[in-house]
Amino acid sequence: IANGANGHSQFPTEEDMTLLQLQQRYAEEAAKRIRADGPAQFLDLTDADTDRFKAIAEDPWADHAALNAKETVNDGATYKFLVLGAGYGGLLFAARLKQAGLINGPDDVRLVDAAGGFGGTWYWNRYPGLHCDVESYIYMPLLEETGYMPKQKYAPGTELREHADRIATHFDLHDKALFRSNAQSATWDEERRLWTVQVTEGRGPNEPSRELTLKCQYLLIASGVLNVPHVPKIPGLEGFGGEMFHTARWDYSATGGSYESPDMEKLKDKRVGIIGTGATSIQVIPQLAKWAKELYVFQRTPSAVHPRDQKETDPEEWKTKIACKEGWQKTRSLNFVAHMSLAAKDDEENLVGDGWTKIPAYSALIGSPGFGLVEPTPEAIGANVARLYKLDTPTTEGARARVDQIVKDPETANKLKAWYPSWCKRPTFSDMYLQAFNEPNVHLIDTNGQGIEAVTKSGLVFGGKEYPLDVLVLSTGYRSPVFGNGNPAAKTGIEVIGRGGLSMDEKWKKIGSATLHGIATSGFPNLFFAFGPQSAATANFITMLEVGIHHTAHILSKAEEKVGVGSRAVVEVTREEEEAWTLQVMMRAPYFASLMGCTPGYLNEEGHSAKQDPKEMMKASRSSGWSEGMLSYIEVLEEYRSEGSLKGIEVTAA
Ligand code: FAD
Ligand code: NDP
Repeated sequence: IANGANGHSQFPTEEDMTLLQLQQRYAEEAAKRIRADGPAQFLDLTDADTDRFKAIAEDPWADHAALNAKETVNDGATYKFLVLGAGYGGLLFAARLKQAGLINGPDDVRLVDAAGGFGGTWYWNRYPGLHCDVESYIYMPLLEETGYMPKQKYAPGTELREHADRIATHFDLHDKALFRSNAQSATWDEERRLWTVQVTEGRGPNEPSRELTLKCQYLLIASGVLNVPHVPKIPGLEGFGGEMFHTARWDYSATGGSYESPDMEKLKDKRVGIIGTGATSIQVIPQLAKWAKELYVFQRTPSAVHPRDQKETDPEEWKTKIACKEGWQKTRSLNFVAHMSLAAKDDEENLVGDGWTKIPAYSALIGSPGFGLVEPTPEAIGANVARLYKLDTPTTEGARARVDQIVKDPETANKLKAWYPSWCKRPTFSDMYLQAFNEPNVHLIDTNGQGIEAVTKSGLVFGGKEYPLDVLVLSTGYRSPVFGNGNPAAKTGIEVIGRGGLSMDEKWKKIGSATLHGIATSGFPNLFFAFGPQSAATANFITMLEVGIHHTAHILSKAEEKVGVGSRAVVEVTREEEEAWTLQVMMRAPYFASLMGCTPGYLNEEGHSAKQDPKEMMKASRSSGWSEGMLSYIEVLEEYRSEGSLKGIEVTAA
C-alpha cells in the first residue's frame, strides 16, 4: 500500500484497496496450488520405465519402412554442422546458414531428431483443434523464401507441419536429416577440435536400434522448449482400464478419425475424461465435446481465455497489405513485438492487431523499454509490481466478465474464471472453448486447485467420488523449459562435455547460467543454441529463434572469414565477456519480481522457483531475460555486430 498504484508513497486510495484485494485473491489461489513435491509431481514420459507409459511415449507417426530404406548419415562421418532438432528451429538454423553461404557441400549439414520427420512441435502434436496461437503470417518461418500464403490467420497443425516439409524441400534438406534418432551425448574432442555426438537411431518395432557416432565442427542445439510430455504421478494412473494417451501423441485408433480428418466417431458412445485445462485443452475440448457421449473436464486451474477472431486469409489483402514488400515478415514480426512490449511509437500502426497486443501486462514476462532498470530495493520493486497489477486489471477483469457473458450456468461460469495475473501462464484464445460448457454432454469437474486424487481401473476419483470413464486424455503438459536453470544440455536431455572434461550440467549447477547474449557459453567451443537463458523473450517463439540464429550466422561468417578458406575455425566465448553479460542480465532481474508470486505452472517450475534458498535464487537470477524487451535486445546485438571485432569471442584456426 505504501507504494500505491501510481508508484508514489501515499495513503491508500480506493483503487489501491481494490488492487490489494485482487492481489490477495491471487495469492490465496496460488497458495492453494503450491505442493511440496513441485516439479517432482510429474513423470517425464521419455523416462518412463513401465510398458504402459513407454507405449504412450512412442512415436505414433513414423513411417519406419520408408525411413529404414533411406541412409542419410554414415557412422563415424564428420559434418560441418550438426543440428540437434529438426523443428522450425533446426530448419531455421539450416536455412539461414545456407543463405549466409556457410553451407555449400553435400556433407556440410545434418539434422538429427528423435521424431520421424520435420516439424518438431508440429510433428509430435496432432491433436484435433491444434492451431498456432500467434498469427501464422509471422509464426510460420520463411514465408517470403517459400512464397507461401497461409490459408488462415491462425494456421492449423496440418498446415504447420506441411510447412516444415516445404522449408526442407526449398532448402534441400530431405536427405540431410536423421530421424527417429536420440542424441545421447556430445563431447568436445580437443585434439581434433571436433564434437563427437553419440546417437541412438530407432528403426521401428521390427529392427534393432543402431548406435552411431557422428562428428562435427559446429554443434547447433535446436531441441525446443516444450517437447518432453509429462504426466502427473496420480496413484493408480497406470492401471486405468480404458484407453489412455497424452495429447502430444494423440491416439486416433482410440477416438476414430485421423489427423487430417478428425471425425472421432468412436467416441459417440464413450465417456471421455480429460485432465488439464491449459492451452492444449482449450483447443481440444471443443472438438471432444462435438463427438463424446459425455465429456468430463477435470480442472485444477482455469485458463484465461480471450477472443480469437480466426479468419480466412484474403488473397487480395495478402498481396496489397501483408506480403506487399520485401522484408515484410520481419517488419510485421517486429511490429508485433513492439505492440506487445509497449515499445510501439504513438503513431505506429498495429499490423497484427490481435488479442496478444491487448495484454499490456504480459510485458511483466517479456520485458519492456521505458521503465529503466528497477533498483533492487523493496520500494522500487514494489512500485514496479504495483504498476504491472494496475496495468493488468482491465485484461483479467475482461476475461472474467467474458466467462459470465458466454457460460450460461453461473456456477460453472464462476469455476471457469482465472484468478492469476496475465503474465503467470500463457494466455489462451478461443471462440469455442467457453461455449462448449453450455453443451449438455460437457461436465466441468473443478478440483479447486487440488487435482485428481486417484485413478481406478474404471475411472477418476475426486472429492471421494468416482467418475467412470472409457477414455482418458492426458492434457497435462511438458517438462518445464526452465528445468536445470535453462541449461541447453538439460533441455536437450543429453550430456554435453566441453573443454577439459567440463560438463555443461555441472557448469550450470555450480555457477548458474553463463552465456554471451544467450547463444553460447565458454568452455564449449563451436556450440551454439538459438536462444538460451539470458536472451530476450516474446510470445512468438519464431522471433526468438530468428534473432539468435541471425546473430550466430553473423559470428560464424566473421569467424570463417578470419581463419580463411581451408582452415577450420574454432569459436569460443571468453569467460570474462560472458560474466560481463551475466552481470547485465542480473541487474535486470528485479524487473521480473512480479513472477515470484505466480500460481504454479511450467514457467516457475510449479512454484519451485519461489521456494529456493537465497544462494540458489541468486544463481537463478543469472537466468533472467532482458528486461527492456526484444527490440532493445536486438539493438544490443546490432551494436555488437556493427562494432565488428567479435568482442569476447576468440577465433582460432584448427
Ligand atoms: P521443437 O519444435 O520442440 O523441435 C525440437 C525437436 O528437437 C523435437 O522434434 C525433438 O524431438 C528434438 N529433440 C530434442 N532433444 C533431442 C535429442 N536429445 N535428440 C534428438 N532430437 C531431440 N509457440 C509459438 O510461438 N506459437 C504457437 O502457437 C505455439 N504453439 C505451440 C503448441 C504446442 C502444442 C506446443 C507444445 C508448443 C507451441 N509453441 C508455440 C512453442 C513451440 O514449441 C515453438 O513455437 C517452436 O515450434 C519451437 O521450435 P523448435 O524447433 O525450437 O523446437
Ligand atoms: P500446461 O502445462 O499448460 O497444462 C497442463 C494442465 O494439466 C494444466 O491445466 C494443469 O493444471 C493440469 N494438471 C497437471 N497435473 C494435474 C493433476 N494432477 N490434476 C489435474 N490437473 C492437472 O500444458 P499444455 O499442453 O496445455 O500447454 C503447454 C504450452 O504449450 C502452452 O503454455 C503453450 O506455450 C504451448 N501450447 C500452445 C498452443 C497454441 O495455442 N498454439 C496449444 C497448446 C500448447 P495447473 O494449471 O493447475 O498446473
